[in-house]
Amino acid sequence: MSLEGKTALVTGGSRGIGAAIAKRLAKDGAKVAITYAGNEAAADATVQAIQSAGGTAFAFQANAGDPASQRAGVEQAAAALGSVDILVHNAGVAEFSAIADDTDEIYDRQFGVNVKGLHVGTRAALPHLNDGGRIILIGSVSGELAFPATAVYSATKAAVAALARGWAKDLASRNILVNTVQPGPIDTDMNPADGDFAKQMTAFVPLGRYGTVEEIAGAVSFLAGPDASYITGTTLNIDGGAAA
Ligand code: NDP
Repeated sequence: MSLEGKTALVTGGSRGIGAAIAKRLAKDGAKVAITYAGNEAAADATVQAIQSAGGTAFAFQANAGDPASQRAGVEQAAAALGSVDILVHNAGVAEFSAIADDTDEIYDRQFGVNVKGLHVGTRAALPHLNDGGRIILIGSVSGELAFPATAVYSATKAAVAALARGWAKDLASRNILVNTVQPGPIDTDMNPADGDFAKQMTAFVPLGRYGTVEEIAGAVSFLAGPDASYITGTTLNIDGGAAA
């Protein structure tokens, strides 16, 4: 198992892409801690699934949009894990709104979770992050492509990729590798493949379908593992060719 003996913290690991990442890293041998916003039942289900498969997992409630809560969650997770080898910032929110309808609250909520949450969480994790570790940020292909009524969300995800490029340089001396994974449309509660916008989104995807959470988790596993030892500061699109 490529991540045997490693520890991983996955934010927003109760559902969707984050839950799949947590399960995959655990399957690869890592001890895993997840955070969640409020869905304790889903968080417990992820932990149970990992433990039933013979892995080790912990869950902590932490609102990535609230700096004190985010810091406390990272501290609890790091204490449970001992130290952190792999930090995956997956927690994110998306709100459909065109500029004519945007409000300060819509802006602040998305930047608060999707950008500031990563900044606060990474600073809290740094003292616990082992040299040679990995930081993987879940951005979005929306950071590169414009869809109607998603400008603020897209701007948060462009910022995510920019943070990764900067942190890759800041942390290179510790051999901590920092990369962004940018999913295209992935079938989750946030973006169901049978939802109102699915047809419109699939039209942008050359492969003609939504991706699965496992397809994102596989890429995260690769970036977290030994074969990715010379990859830092880059962005990996997993989008069925949408951004090509
Ligand atoms: P879901 O809405 O299905 O799941 C979101 C997860 O994040 C849940 O575990 C949720 O916890 C957690 N979460 C949400 N808000 C917070 C918060 N404030 N603090 C802590 N945890 C939080 O989303 P996806 O799985 O679809 O998305 C995961 C990531 O992937 C996001 O960053 C998203 O922007 C990105 N992405 C998704 C795409 C898609 O098509 N699905 C495409 C491109 C990027 P809880 O269960 O407690 O609510």
